[in-house]
Amino acid sequence: MMKNGVFDMALEQLDTTAKRIKLNPNIHRVLRHCEKELTVSCPVVMNDGRIEVFEGHRVQHSSARGPCKGGIRFHQDVSVDEVKALAMWMTWKCAVVNIPFGGAKGGVQVDVTKLEKEEIRRLTRRFTVNIMPIIGPRHDIPAPDVNTNAETMGWIMDTVSMYQGSTVLDIVTGKSLDLGGSAGRKEATGRGVMLNTMELLKRWQIDPSKTSVAVQGFGNVGSVSADLLHKEGCRIVAVSDVSGAYYNPAGLPIRDMLEYCATSKNNTLEGFDAAGVSKIKNAELFELDVDILVPAALEKQITKENAEKVKARAIIEGANGPTTPEAERIMTKNGKVVVPDILANSGGVVVSYFEWVQSIQSFFWDENEVNKNLKKVIVRAFEDVWNLAQRDKIMLRDAATQIAVQRVAQAMEYRGIFP
Ligand code: GLU
Repeated sequence: MMKNGVFDMALEQLDTTAKRIKLNPNIHRVLRHCEKELTVSCPVVMNDGRIEVFEGHRVQHSSARGPCKGGIRFHQDVSVDEVKALAMWMTWKCAVVNIPFGGAKGGVQVDVTKLEKEEIRRLTRRFTVNIMPIIGPRHDIPAPDVNTNAETMGWIMDTVSMYQGSTVLDIVTGKSLDLGGSAGRKEATGRGVMLNTMELLKRWQIDPSKTSVAVQGFGNVGSVSADLLHKEGCRIVAVSDVSGAYYNPAGLPIRDMLEYCATSKNNTLEGFDAAGVSKIKNAELFELDVDILVPAALEKQITKENAEKVKARAIIEGANGPTTPEAERIMTKNGKVVVPDILANSGGVVVSYFEWVQSIQSFFWDENEVNKNLKKVIVRAFEDVWNLAQRDKIMLRDAATQIAVQRVAQAMEYRGIFP
């Protein structure tokens, strides 16, 4: 069912690049399809004895460059169309930062706020067993995404391990530290957003202390992005989550907000208050006169309806697919720069790669080592993308997609089409 047409958006981005770089039409045809799509139903005995059935998907877009990689999200709006788009974006993301993975994604259509923890655990275990035929440390390695976290990954790891009869550390990434996770993984996506922002500011010769930022979303990506940008000296003037948007033109107390969320109901900012902080509408956050806007929630937040109103000079996509192609054209015409998702939020999967390597070797690095290597990967990828965009006078998204598609196409040419 075509629910929101996100896969069309992903196809449009691929087609635009394919046309511009005159991609071999045979390769293009293959890349327009996902290699594997599995839809499963997950019956779960709820705490009151009722049985609820939740639909889930695991989609592998391309394994040309290595095992498929990508998170699993739990959200009421999950559809196979969305999961396919997210899987394709994972292929480009892994390729643009040059790690040896293909792309995949998973999702379960569920509103987690309506479930008890035990129910979510049973759902996770059932979903894991249902997708076990296609996941594996050498095939497809899940990770956290929207509304899933280290605890969820622990349940997946345990479920697979029970079937295997031995502990399988390399089946998922984003595990907690005591379960073979990597130092720095939890913060990695936000750290990548910060690193990308710093690279951009460097090229614009703007001091972080003179930079104002608005962040949409205060989950794992948005909150860490805000925190690390704040630590770099940026002034975070607005953040939002499901409870609304919080604004202080003089700068928000990000540390206090993080602490508040650690113990609040559903870990939201609901009820947060501090001197100088006012509540604004979520839509207003996108229209603030800031230097940097970080959409770090869901897809299709900046559309042709609100793109004209965006005043930020740069949009750093912490989320996957927050900007529609139409909106991006409008903002580019208005002189805005969009650092695309496949580059901006790639920090998570880069450290997932480090975690996978550490899990296989059962040899763990310290956080400095992880952060140093992450920075190396991001700085190099940003430079590749920036230089190509400057050289060919194209948008950063087109440059990033071009680099990614060319790398995947090269791998496909070398492998040939089976049989
Ligand atoms: N869900 C994250 C993403 O969209 C991380 C994926 C991973 O680490 O495999 O990039």
